[in-house]
Amino acid sequence: MKPDIAHLCAFFIAIAPIATACEQGVAPGPAEPVATPDESSRDKSQKDRADHGAGEEVEIQTVPVAGNIYMLIGRGGNIGVSVGGDGILIIDDQFAPLADKIRAALGALSKGDLQYVLNTHHHGDHVGGNAVFGKEATIIAHDNVRKNLAGKPAEVLPVVTFDKTLTVHFNGEAIRAVHFASGHTDGDSIIFFDKSNVVHMGDHFFNGRFPYVDLGNGGNPAGLEENIRTVLGLVKSDTKIIPGHGPLATRDDLVAYHQMLIETVAVIRGQIKQGKNLAAIQKQGLPAKWKSWGEGFISTEKWIETIYNSSTAGK
Ligand SMILES: [Zn+2]
Repeated sequence: MKPDIAHLCAFFIAIAPIATACEQGVAPGPAEPVATPDESSRDKSQKDRADHGAGEEVEIQTVPVAGNIYMLIGRGGNIGVSVGGDGILIIDDQFAPLADKIRAALGALSKGDLQYVLNTHHHGDHVGGNAVFGKEATIIAHDNVRKNLAGKPAEVLPVVTFDKTLTVHFNGEAIRAVHFASGHTDGDSIIFFDKSNVVHMGDHFFNGRFPYVDLGNGGNPAGLEENIRTVLGLVKSDTKIIPGHGPLATRDDLVAYHQMLIETVAVIRGQIKQGKNLAAIQKQGLPAKWKSWGEGFISTEKWIETIYNSSTAGK
């Protein structure tokens, strides 16, 4: 089954200061991605888990990020939360069957109402909760997220969409969604909380793991690397970074991920130039220092295949 979307990138300018000193490192968190729509690469049991979204066993873990910003880890993409006098805004909403648990976790943080849901992109493990929360809050996303969700029930669809950037003035700060094309999908946004010094990366960032890149919907490993390079130019040394999957991160974690992208793309492209086919490259594998990166949702073989397919397609 083919997922949907497409897209483009916005350029923007100087991003404001995100603030200071260095971080503490990172909460543990078992947030392995469970559901991207790349059905062909998953076995049936994985699919079932993704489709049903939430077993009884799933617990929502609340991680303080900075000030009034939190991260919820459950199943699927990490949720960003802003709470305050204006109410609650969340970034992504995992799966509909988890909605009650997500609501309980939000209720423990604030008595306010959920006002906005920002979707970073259209994949099911990031927008599944729209089916519930879309009835009570305004969903916001890039134009291509709505396009890629075409045909879904109205409450699932973003009501407010944008092309390049959009700012929500909420809980005392400007929460900026900026479109980054050609990385993970064609409709991805990265969300900047400048005052709180927090960034939610969506699936541009799998912390410590090879990423899922949705080639069928405009994703591209080389574009992903460029986008991460851009973001690294915008964040500060002590910015708290919420990844799409994996534990809360620091700028240093994002630097390590960026280096992985640069080096693994270069290795695979070098082997393609030598005339090797996919099977030969997969047999050779990647340098040992990247071994643990293939222990998540995307194996080393799958990551090699993704780079190979995009590179041989001339992207
Ligand atoms: Zn995704």
